[in-house]
Amino acid sequence: MPDNLVDHPRYGRRPRITGCDLRGDNLGLDPSWKYTIDDVTIIPDTGIRADVSKQHGSAIPIYVYYDVLKTCVDCRRPFIFFAEEQRYWFETLGFANDANCIRCVECRKKQQTDDRVNSEYQQLLKKEEKSWEDFHDLANAALDLHVLGRFKRMDRIRHYFNQIPDSEHHRLRIKQLKERIKKVEQVIAPQPAARFESDSEDGGKPQPESKTGSL
Ligand SMILES: [Zn+2]
Repeated sequence: MPDNLVDHPRYGRRPRITGCDLRGDNLGLDPSWKYTIDDVTIIPDTGIRADVSKQHGSAIPIYVYYDVLKTCVDCRRPFIFFAEEQRYWFETLGFANDANCIRCVECRKKQQTDDRVNSEYQQLLKKEEKSWEDFHDLANAALDLHVLGRFKRMDRIRHYFNQIPDSEHHRLRIKQLKERIKKVEQVIAPQPAARFESDSEDGGKPQPESKTGSL
């Protein structure tokens, strides 16, 4: 086994040896068709019997699940797609049995986070009447997406920022958001510094409408 295997919080990082390996048996069926099309390495003696009545998807059921060794498409680390995890996917969660697991558990979680942030951003964007808090949250969600590599439009983020009117009540939050935008912009291009409509040291008052806005 590779020594940099991704650790799974539920199943660990070692194959689960069951002593069951039916690949050589003449059962008149192919328990490993799935692993052939998914192009993975079966770990010997890790088989568990499937309940094919609970599967759907391919016309050919999976009769035995095996721990298989895979490489994550995102982080390129090796990980085990465990037999028990497959049983959970295909018999409990109802995933089609020809579904392929291409990411390690850590990258799957990260992708779910990315999707949630993106969904929040899209929901805010759809609102017809946006409050200053909506623009504040839009800018933050867009910054989150930017950090995740899924949002490139810094001009749009500045535009959201510029829709937030100054107020004693939320001056601190404006200041925090502004600092966050500046930090991100400095990472992208150290020069020039962030360009705001109003840019004084005290966290100055942004104009309600941005001339540079691009919505
Ligand atoms: Zn990964």
